[in-house]
Amino acid sequence: SGAYIAQNYRLTTQVYYYMARSLKVAVIGAGVAGLVTARELQREGHAAVVYEKGGQLGGTWVYNPRVESDPLGLDPNREIIHSSLYYSLRTNCPRQLMGFSDYPFSVRENGDSRDFPRHEEVLNFLNDFARDFGLNELIRFNVEVVRVEMVDSRNDEWVVESRRGGLSWEEVFEAVVVCVGHNTVPRVADVPGIQKWPRKQLHSHNYRVPEPFRDQIVVTIGDGPSAHDISKEIAMVAKEVHLSSRSPNVKALKFGEQNNMWQHSKIEYLHEDGIVAFQDGTSVDADIIFHCTGYKYYFPFLNTPGIFSVEDNRVGRLYKHVFPPQLGPSLSFVAVPSRVIGFTMMELQSKWISRALSGKVLLPSKEKMLADVQEHYRQMAECGIPKHHTHVIGPQKFDYLDWLAVQVGVPAFDEQLRQLILHLFNVVKTNAYVQYREWDVDNWIHTAM
Ligand code: FAD
Repeated sequence: SGAYIAQNYRLTTQVYYYMARSLKVAVIGAGVAGLVTARELQREGHAAVVYEKGGQLGGTWVYNPRVESDPLGLDPNREIIHSSLYYSLRTNCPRQLMGFSDYPFSVRENGDSRDFPRHEEVLNFLNDFARDFGLNELIRFNVEVVRVEMVDSRNDEWVVESRRGGLSWEEVFEAVVVCVGHNTVPRVADVPGIQKWPRKQLHSHNYRVPEPFRDQIVVTIGDGPSAHDISKEIAMVAKEVHLSSRSPNVKALKFGEQNNMWQHSKIEYLHEDGIVAFQDGTSVDADIIFHCTGYKYYFPFLNTPGIFSVEDNRVGRLYKHVFPPQLGPSLSFVAVPSRVIGFTMMELQSKWISRALSGKVLLPSKEKMLADVQEHYRQMAECGIPKHHTHVIGPQKFDYLDWLAVQVGVPAFDEQLRQLILHLFNVVKTNAYVQYREWDVDNWIHTAM
């Protein structure tokens, strides 16, 4: 009958529609971003191939006791060590904020049950996640992607060249998701006089244990959690630790439990005789300058001339930090923004990408996406925000996460978690140097809610 035919036709076109939008997708990297992206792509019916240059999954969370030959990480010929974890690292975010919406970071049997566990616990969690969603089968280990290039712009075809040992391959994909992490290539502070400062310098990327700092006078530069954690740790063995921060109005002040730590303003000048002079009027004859100054975005394999670039740590241009307007949705990036709740953001971004690829979610026109990016840049300039902060989400973190949630049609951020995050930032901000990791998060949730 007509009704039967109509219904069948509808079904057939529907099936055809979804089959037509089930793509072959290359995911570069098997860290948190690559894993959750592979899961979301699979759920959406895409065929994902995950390239991982390391021998195991987990990215940053795979601790490596080795450090690079150049302690500042500037020598282009050095062997690159991916992870920046130091031996004693415990998470700076409670486990309640480091799971996925349907797969919480729960306490494992015989595991580290603390709310801010050691790094091994995160790696165990990621291995469980990969096992439970059958992701290991999708990963090609020890295979590094060395070139990604669009071969046919009408059909969105990308060639991915990869290497293992001395062999290289090319394979064609309909989409590429870049999940290579952004905590490997050091950003070093540009301080007046640094070129001629004669003593030792290193970046936190190459810090593992405090022993090399025994009896040394150390100046640490940085404002982030690593700067505070590492300063505290090396103060246990160092003679003195001077923490220089670029936050405004910082006065020279002794602090901490060891009685050998000072906070200072920005560095005014580094003298050739080793003296470090701070803007607060004090100075110190230092043995080591320790840069805890973050990392650079680095995509050496991307060959998209004239369309995509990284300038002063601005990945340009990216619509909402994910899609290059001229190339999206077939090229996308997960985890570019910083100072945001990482795991939640990566899950939402990867859902958005997977659905944009299947056609369930439509992106605005190229022109509209470009205009949106331009408006973002304009607002930054108007507020005097430096270019290298383009992807620092900071205070607008909820707006960004809520916006992503709307795109993929999932509920906005849970109110309980929202309160928890606000409280966490407050605790860390007001008590940066006390033991915020001893905070009993579950108990706080019960009481506060
Ligand atoms: P990564 O974990 O870096 O993974 C990227 C993967 O891509 C790696 O496995 C790498 O080998 C692979 N890769 C790179 N290039 C290629 C290539 N060309 N071909 C093939 N494979 C490639 N976040 C939190 O939520 N809580 C915390 O407490 C926390 N603490 C942190 C502490 C430190 C010291 C650092 C550095 C980061 C911390 N983070 C924390 C942020 C952390 O980076 C994220 O949690 C998360 O690991 C980022 O995942 P990713 O997949 O984006 O990157």
